[in-house]
Amino acid sequence: NDQKKFLLDSIRDIPDFPKPGILFKDITTLLNNAEAFSLLMNHLEERYKEFNLDFIAGIESRGFIFGSALAAKLGIGFVPIRKKNKLPFTTISEKYALEYGVDEVEIHIDAFREKKGARVLLIDDLIATGGTAEAAAKLIKAANAECVEACFIINLTFLDGRKKLDELTSVYSILEI
Ligand code: IMP
Repeated sequence: NDQKKFLLDSIRDIPDFPKPGILFKDITTLLNNAEAFSLLMNHLEERYKEFNLDFIAGIESRGFIFGSALAAKLGIGFVPIRKKNKLPFTTISEKYALEYGVDEVEIHIDAFREKKGARVLLIDDLIATGGTAEAAAKLIKAANAECVEACFIINLTFLDGRKKLDELTSVYSILEI
Protein backbone atom coordinates (compact mmCIF):
# COMPACT_ATOMS: atom_id res chain seq x y z
CA ASN A 1 0.00 0.00 0.00
CA ASP A 2 0.91 3.70 0.04
CA GLN A 3 2.58 3.68 3.45
CA LYS A 4 4.79 0.74 2.54
CA LYS A 5 5.78 2.46 -0.67
CA PHE A 6 6.57 5.64 1.25
CA LEU A 7 8.82 3.68 3.65
CA LEU A 8 10.46 1.74 0.85
CA ASP A 9 11.14 4.96 -1.06
CA SER A 10 12.77 6.45 2.05
CA ILE A 11 15.45 3.70 1.98
CA ARG A 12 18.47 4.30 -0.25
CA ASP A 13 20.22 1.67 -2.40
CA ILE A 14 24.03 1.78 -2.37
CA PRO A 15 25.65 -0.35 -5.10
CA ASP A 16 28.88 -2.21 -4.31
CA PHE A 17 28.85 -1.61 -0.54
CA PRO A 18 30.55 -2.98 1.50
CA LYS A 19 31.84 -5.19 -1.34
CA PRO A 20 31.54 -5.26 -5.13
CA GLY A 21 28.29 -6.88 -6.26
CA ILE A 22 26.31 -6.11 -3.09
CA LEU A 23 23.36 -3.71 -3.27
CA PHE A 24 23.25 -2.29 0.26
CA LYS A 25 19.96 -1.08 1.73
CA ASP A 26 20.82 2.15 3.55
CA ILE A 27 18.24 2.93 6.24
CA THR A 28 19.92 6.19 7.39
CA THR A 29 17.67 8.01 4.89
CA LEU A 30 14.63 6.51 6.63
CA LEU A 31 15.95 7.59 10.05
CA ASN A 32 16.61 11.19 9.03
CA ASN A 33 13.12 11.46 7.49
CA ALA A 34 10.96 12.38 10.52
CA GLU A 35 7.71 11.34 8.82
CA ALA A 36 9.06 7.95 7.73
CA PHE A 37 10.69 7.17 11.08
CA SER A 38 7.52 8.05 13.07
CA LEU A 39 5.30 6.13 10.67
CA LEU A 40 7.49 3.06 11.10
CA MET A 41 7.78 3.32 14.89
CA ASN A 42 4.03 3.91 15.32
CA HIS A 43 3.31 0.84 13.21
CA LEU A 44 5.65 -1.25 15.35
CA GLU A 45 4.12 0.10 18.55
CA GLU A 46 0.59 -0.77 17.34
CA ARG A 47 1.65 -4.31 16.47
CA TYR A 48 3.64 -5.10 19.58
CA LYS A 49 1.67 -3.37 22.34
CA GLU A 50 -0.61 -6.45 22.51
CA PHE A 51 2.25 -8.97 22.63
CA ASN A 52 2.82 -8.70 26.38
CA LEU A 53 6.58 -8.41 25.84
CA ASP A 54 9.09 -8.16 28.69
CA PHE A 55 12.15 -7.10 26.64
CA ILE A 56 13.32 -6.15 23.19
CA ALA A 57 16.68 -7.52 22.03
CA GLY A 58 18.33 -5.61 19.19
CA ILE A 59 21.15 -6.83 16.94
CA GLU A 60 24.21 -4.57 16.53
CA SER A 61 24.11 -2.00 15.24
CA ARG A 62 20.99 -0.89 13.37
CA GLY A 63 18.84 -3.19 15.49
CA PHE A 64 19.82 -0.97 18.43
CA ILE A 65 18.18 2.06 16.83
CA PHE A 66 14.78 0.51 16.10
CA GLY A 67 14.84 -1.74 19.15
CA SER A 68 15.59 0.93 21.72
CA ALA A 69 13.08 3.38 20.22
CA LEU A 70 10.39 0.67 20.37
CA ALA A 71 11.33 -0.43 23.90
CA ALA A 72 10.93 3.15 25.14
CA LYS A 73 7.53 3.44 23.39
CA LEU A 74 6.34 0.18 24.98
CA GLY A 75 7.82 0.95 28.40
CA ILE A 76 10.00 -2.21 28.51
CA GLY A 77 13.74 -2.89 28.74
CA PHE A 78 16.21 -3.10 25.86
CA VAL A 79 18.97 -5.73 25.50
CA PRO A 80 21.88 -5.38 23.05
CA ILE A 81 23.17 -8.42 21.11
CA ARG A 82 26.68 -7.49 20.02
CA LYS A 83 29.61 -8.69 17.94
CA LYS A 84 32.19 -10.61 19.99
CA ASN A 85 34.31 -8.89 22.64
CA LYS A 86 32.20 -5.73 22.85
CA LEU A 87 30.07 -6.50 25.91
CA PRO A 88 31.83 -5.80 29.23
CA PHE A 89 30.19 -8.34 31.60
CA THR A 90 30.06 -12.18 31.40
CA THR A 91 28.59 -13.27 28.06
CA ILE A 92 27.08 -16.21 26.22
CA SER A 93 28.26 -16.48 22.59
CA GLU A 94 27.06 -18.10 19.41
CA LYS A 95 29.02 -18.55 16.19
CA TYR A 96 27.44 -18.32 12.75
CA ALA A 97 28.62 -18.84 9.20
CA LEU A 98 29.41 -15.99 6.84
CA GLU A 99 29.96 -16.30 3.11
CA TYR A 100 33.64 -16.70 3.93
CA GLY A 101 34.46 -17.69 7.51
CA VAL A 102 32.58 -17.31 10.78
CA ASP A 103 31.41 -14.51 13.03
CA GLU A 104 30.16 -14.52 16.59
CA VAL A 105 27.48 -12.63 18.54
CA GLU A 106 27.14 -12.29 22.30
CA ILE A 107 24.60 -11.44 24.98
CA HIS A 108 25.13 -10.70 28.66
CA ILE A 109 24.41 -13.75 30.78
CA ASP A 110 22.04 -11.69 32.99
CA ALA A 111 20.49 -9.72 30.11
CA PHE A 112 16.94 -10.67 31.11
CA ARG A 113 17.46 -9.98 34.78
CA GLU A 114 16.94 -13.60 35.90
CA LYS A 115 13.32 -13.46 34.73
CA LYS A 116 12.90 -17.08 33.52
CA GLY A 117 10.83 -17.35 30.35
CA ALA A 118 10.88 -13.61 29.70
CA ARG A 119 8.97 -12.76 26.52
CA VAL A 120 11.45 -11.19 24.10
CA LEU A 121 11.09 -9.58 20.68
CA LEU A 122 14.23 -9.81 18.53
CA ILE A 123 14.70 -6.92 16.11
CA ASP A 124 17.10 -5.96 13.32
CA ASP A 125 16.95 -3.68 10.30
CA LEU A 126 17.29 -6.41 7.70
CA ILE A 127 17.30 -10.19 7.26
CA ALA A 128 19.43 -11.54 4.43
CA THR A 129 20.64 -15.16 4.81
CA GLY A 130 19.23 -15.29 8.36
CA GLY A 131 22.49 -16.43 9.94
CA THR A 132 22.84 -13.44 12.26
CA ALA A 133 19.24 -13.60 13.47
CA GLU A 134 19.42 -17.37 13.96
CA ALA A 135 22.45 -16.97 16.21
CA ALA A 136 20.72 -14.11 18.08
CA ALA A 137 17.55 -16.17 18.64
CA LYS A 138 19.69 -18.99 20.03
CA LEU A 139 21.33 -16.56 22.44
CA ILE A 140 17.94 -15.42 23.76
CA LYS A 141 17.05 -19.05 24.45
CA ALA A 142 20.45 -19.73 26.02
CA ALA A 143 19.82 -16.79 28.35
CA ASN A 144 16.61 -18.58 29.55
CA ALA A 145 14.16 -16.35 27.75
CA GLU A 146 11.62 -16.94 24.98
CA CYS A 147 12.04 -15.34 21.57
CA VAL A 148 8.39 -14.59 20.81
CA GLU A 149 9.03 -13.08 17.37
CA ALA A 150 11.86 -11.85 15.17
CA CYS A 151 11.06 -8.53 13.49
CA PHE A 152 12.85 -6.98 10.51
CA ILE A 153 12.20 -3.73 8.70
CA ILE A 154 13.40 -5.35 5.44
CA ASN A 155 13.39 -8.99 4.34
CA LEU A 156 15.49 -9.89 1.29
CA THR A 157 13.08 -12.73 0.53
CA PHE A 158 15.11 -14.16 -2.37
CA LEU A 159 17.70 -15.33 0.21
CA ASP A 160 15.02 -17.22 2.18
CA GLY A 161 16.58 -16.29 5.54
CA ARG A 162 13.39 -16.85 7.51
CA LYS A 163 13.75 -20.59 6.91
CA LYS A 164 16.67 -20.58 9.38
CA LEU A 165 14.35 -19.12 12.03
CA ASP A 166 11.38 -21.45 11.43
CA GLU A 167 12.12 -23.74 14.33
CA LEU A 168 13.19 -20.97 16.70
CA THR A 169 10.60 -18.22 16.44
CA SER A 170 7.92 -16.63 14.30
CA VAL A 171 9.10 -13.99 11.85
CA TYR A 172 7.61 -10.63 10.89
CA SER A 173 8.89 -8.19 8.30
CA ILE A 174 7.47 -4.90 7.08
CA LEU A 175 9.08 -4.55 3.64
CA GLU A 176 9.78 -7.50 1.36
CA ILE A 177 12.28 -7.21 -1.47
P1 IMP B 1 22.30 -12.22 7.42
O1 IMP B 1 22.97 -12.80 8.63
O2 IMP B 1 22.86 -12.74 6.14
O3 IMP B 1 20.79 -12.36 7.49
O4 IMP B 1 22.62 -10.66 7.39
C1 IMP B 1 21.90 -9.77 8.18
C2 IMP B 1 22.81 -8.80 8.88
O5 IMP B 1 23.61 -8.11 7.93
C3 IMP B 1 21.98 -7.77 9.60
O6 IMP B 1 22.57 -7.43 10.85
C4 IMP B 1 21.96 -6.60 8.66
O7 IMP B 1 21.97 -5.36 9.34
C5 IMP B 1 23.21 -6.76 7.82
N1 IMP B 1 22.96 -6.50 6.39
C6 IMP B 1 23.11 -7.33 5.35
N2 IMP B 1 22.78 -6.75 4.19
C7 IMP B 1 22.40 -5.50 4.49
C8 IMP B 1 21.90 -4.39 3.71
O8 IMP B 1 21.74 -4.42 2.48
N3 IMP B 1 21.60 -3.26 4.43
C9 IMP B 1 21.73 -3.19 5.75
N4 IMP B 1 22.17 -4.21 6.49
C10 IMP B 1 22.50 -5.34 5.88
